[in-house]
Amino acid sequence: MKFAVRTLSGADGQKRKYVYYWCPGCGHAHSVPAERWHWNGSEESPTLEPSVRHFIMKPGTLAETTICHYHLRKGVIEYCGDCQHNLRGQNVPLQEIPADYGIPENDN
Ligand SMILES: [Zn+2]
Repeated sequence: MKFAVRTLSGADGQKRKYVYYWCPGCGHAHSVPAERWHWNGSEESPTLEPSVRHFIMKPGTLAETTICHYHLRKGVIEYCGDCQHNLRGQNVPLQEIPADYGIPENDN
């Protein structure tokens, strides 16, 4: 499975669809809310819009440090130049999510 869709309850009690995919740059899965990133509905050739940026904030400040930044277009991760990892600037097709990774089950 290269792309997983799950319906999960948020802290506000609302159920939302989340999409999961493996990031070989970070070595773990990323997930985003499907609606907010305008997922095109395809699990075979998924596209998200706009770009996705994962960042950390310095404790006690609003300063953001980008960890990973990419477009996902037609099943290919297009890494931007500001990633912290070695795949910056490269295009990488989605890979299998390791079976034992632990993507959550749907909430009932
Ligand atoms: Zn990443």
